Amino acid sequence: MHILIIEDEKKTAGFLKKGLTENGFVVDVAHTAEAGLFQAHVSGYDLVILDIMLPDKSGWVVFEEMRRSGNTTPVLFLTARDSVEDRVKGLELGADDYLVKPFAFSELLARVRVVLRRPPVQKVQTIEIADLQIDLLKRKVRRAGQQIDLTQKEFVLLSLLAQRSGDVLSRTMIAEQVWDMNFDSDTNVVDVAIRRLRSKVDDPFTEKLIHTVRGVGYVLEKK
Ligand code: CA
Repeated sequence: MHILIIEDEKKTAGFLKKGLTENGFVVDVAHTAEAGLFQAHVSGYDLVILDIMLPDKSGWVVFEEMRRSGNTTPVLFLTARDSVEDRVKGLELGADDYLVKPFAFSELLARVRVVLRRPPVQKVQTIEIADLQIDLLKRKVRRAGQQIDLTQKEFVLLSLLAQRSGDVLSRTMIAEQVWDMNFDSDTNVVDVAIRRLRSKVDDPFTEKLIHTVRGVGYVLEKK
């Protein structure tokens, strides 16, 4: 198994290379986006570990350029902070997994093994629940064929509920995932956002999809 690490921090790259080599992987390292793209292009890798913060281009751009050139090698992103925007972006782009720095090597190794064992599949682009369609790549939402315009946060909130359709999500969990911060559990920020989302996604339609579970939170599902 041949892995390419694209990471400008030499210490991190060296530590990853050493650990992965000790675990039987053949590892190359590139310290810039350009060098990484070149190597990914000329050598067949089983996995690319890609840092998002690179000096010349972001990891997102590297990933998009890889995919645009037809390179389907699985990619595991390394992100510096656990940002919801990063996660949503990674998901939209079709990242295979991501790891938030700092992480334990054992955690990385476990993710690497999971990604390598996973058969290549078509990434989910569109979620459909009843007559609601969410295009995660194009960030477009339609209901009963009508386009619905959402703000960025509303889109993240709806995507979260839709991806976990059938699961009741607590206000605290929603606050952490959508706003990337901890709210007091008695805050009504989530309730206000849900109300706005409902006014666009549910109110104009007969069938309601966003349901309140009293004392717990919210669930999006076809009842
Ligand atoms: Ca970096």
